[in-house]
Amino acid sequence: VFTAATVAAAPEDPLFGLMKAYREDPSDKKVDLGIGAYRDNNAKPWILPVVKKADDAIHNDPTLNHEYLSIGGLADFTSAAQKLIVGADSPAIREKRICSLQTISGTGAVHLGGLFLSKFHPQKPAIYLSNPTWANHNQIFTNVGLTLAKYPYFSVKTKGLDFTGMIAALEAAPHGSVILLHACAHNPTGVDPTEDQWKQIAELMRSRSHFPFFDTAYQGFASGDLVRDSWAIRYFVEQGFEMCVAQSFAKNFGLYGERTGAFHFVSAPGPDAAAASAHIASQLAILQRSEISNPPAYGARIASRVLNDPELFKEWEADLRTMSGRILEMRQGLRERLEKRGTPGSWDHITSQIGMFSFTGLSEEQVMTLRSKWHVYMTKNGRISMAGLNTNNIDYFAEAVDSVVR
Ligand code: PLP
Repeated sequence: VFTAATVAAAPEDPLFGLMKAYREDPSDKKVDLGIGAYRDNNAKPWILPVVKKADDAIHNDPTLNHEYLSIGGLADFTSAAQKLIVGADSPAIREKRICSLQTISGTGAVHLGGLFLSKFHPQKPAIYLSNPTWANHNQIFTNVGLTLAKYPYFSVKTKGLDFTGMIAALEAAPHGSVILLHACAHNPTGVDPTEDQWKQIAELMRSRSHFPFFDTAYQGFASGDLVRDSWAIRYFVEQGFEMCVAQSFAKNFGLYGERTGAFHFVSAPGPDAAAASAHIASQLAILQRSEISNPPAYGARIASRVLNDPELFKEWEADLRTMSGRILEMRQGLRERLEKRGTPGSWDHITSQIGMFSFTGLSEEQVMTLRSKWHVYMTKNGRISMAGLNTNNIDYFAEAVDSVVR
């Protein structure tokens, strides 16, 4: 029989433990580089000015109320989210072969896609995840009954992409495997394939009939350019792939807690594509209904206002450049400082990696020394959140890294 006493304690979430240790550290020098959210130069959360503007307009809009959204979410939001990720002139939109539902941010979108594949893929396939990947991928896909497989991704030696290893694994994967790909700003490494490498990945995936599942959590936040950060997805659509896309607006709108995201399924071109897409939409709606009934309205209303208003959209692009620009400055600043000190090792990966995170190459032992001796908090795998660096702590951090590396 089931009793409460039969439930063992779950292991502590490593990020949660890190945050707790940081909070409890009384030092005024402490630096939080574990955080997965943008911080301004004063280490404070940043409400995007365009989000504030949209928010004010929503508060003063007498036509809005607190009724349920539809199962698929706010239609103005999902259609704008579609255009943003595949491009407004995409054949997938024109040919009505992309269906989209609003989800509980990116996590909910990954989950909905995983659940859909688990129910409707005839073979219940393994899902191939990059090694390493965003830790939650493992739990989300396991929870919906998919088995996990890995492909090599990060080269410890070059601190860049292990392209040869990745290609070999995708080649060896069973025909028709599902491959999870980070669209840009790979979490946790900050390492992305080049456009040429993406083309080779696509070619190989087509020859093996693999199915891409894109996770896009950093569009516009990585390079500051929304089109550039969606290049890989647009290329795969152009190549006629069928695919899942999980899209988060947490980072690029700073709407973390509002849980704003979308799931898209793109069907392959062909005479029956629009009908297939409608069938898929109807099945996704049933899954959504059983899980959340209908998604939350607030964040989607904000994003929808910005995405559908050309003036606000421009302001958003400027806000994106503010965030990505500050992060790029921190990357350059850190590399310069380490090189100036002559810190042993090469540090060019700090600027060649992109997005919120950098895989520094620091060992677990070095990470632990940084924590105990320098009050610098990062995950054990040596990942730092660039957003945690600012002009007040970057010198101190460079000094700390220099000291543990020597
Ligand atoms: N996917 C990746 C790779 C991420 O890094 C994140 C957030 O850290 C997400 C998805 C989803 O985040 P959220 O559910 O907050 O949108």
